[in-house]
Amino acid sequence: MIIVLRPNISKEEEDCVLKEIELRGYKPHVMRGVSRVVIGAVGDEQSHQSLVTLASWKQVESVTRIQKRYKLVSREAQEKNTVITINDQVKIGDKKVHLMAGPCSVENEKQLMHIAENVKKNGATILRGGAFKPRTSPYDFQGLGENGLKLLAKAREATGLAIVTECLSEDHVEMVAEYADIIQIGTRNAQNFQLLIAASHTGKPILLKRGASMRIEEWLLAGEYILSNGNPNLLFCERGIRTFETYTRNTLDLTSIPILKQETHCPIVIDPSQGCGSAKLVESLCIGAVSMGADALLIEVHPDPAHALSDGPQQVTLEDFAKLTKDLKPFLDAVGRE
Ligand code: PEP
Ligand code: MN
Repeated sequence: MIIVLRPNISKEEEDCVLKEIELRGYKPHVMRGVSRVVIGAVGDEQSHQSLVTLASWKQVESVTRIQKRYKLVSREAQEKNTVITINDQVKIGDKKVHLMAGPCSVENEKQLMHIAENVKKNGATILRGGAFKPRTSPYDFQGLGENGLKLLAKAREATGLAIVTECLSEDHVEMVAEYADIIQIGTRNAQNFQLLIAASHTGKPILLKRGASMRIEEWLLAGEYILSNGNPNLLFCERGIRTFETYTRNTLDLTSIPILKQETHCPIVIDPSQGCGSAKLVESLCIGAVSMGADALLIEVHPDPAHALSDGPQQVTLEDFAKLTKDLKPFLDAVGRE
């Protein structure tokens, strides 16, 4: 911690701060400037009372944390990348960049089976599809619920694809875990900490989307809820944040890739579909994401986007998906991924 004192305070006021720092278990190192005193307080913030509260003292100008607030998700805790194995075959975080593809919503059996077979043929290893949909309007299609989960399980049986699907509520965690191979926590629930804890306890891999107005530090701390509750299988999924830009639905923050690579050992997934809201932009964003080091892509695919029950404008057609997977190849080669 770095504590900067206000200029020209008395010796008694300075001593008072130094005494408090020692009382809380830290060792103060004083640096004396022309008009200001800067104190470096050395000690483990995890095991002592924090010094951030000193910021409210009248003789203190600022308190700056040096240690990271997240521990288990941090590269400091584990230097090597975490590789998450799903159903003994899919390894996310390894050399292969995995494609998680499928409809925004599971609509019916025919639609799901058709998409599942098609995306599998084009290299996807994981089928996405929402059974519980977090819709902005209560009048919009809310998903098929457990019947949708059953259809996903059926598609897994038919194709061997693993399943990623969203859990919206603590009440549904056990039910979703029964069917899903990866539990998705959506942007709207990214800081629903009780849901995160409950999802962590299932032991299933968790795909944690970034909240639409979440800073990266807050996102990493949300991820810390998964690991600190005993589940090491966490994937961070960037899906765009809300900015002033109206050309796209969200602003897909690809800067988060190198930042997360530096800060965490957990795999990174990019969702270009929610990230831009427009099918036409999806391929470019996929190219950007894999070139920058994403470990997986989560892509919405629909045979007839114009009649999709949710997110029609951003879902790519089966043909677009097939083209996209081919177009990605040279970029994957260039960065030494498969
Ligand atoms: C989705 O994946 O369909 C979805 C609703 O995602 P998000 O939570 O990122 O909006
Ligand atoms: Mn969607």
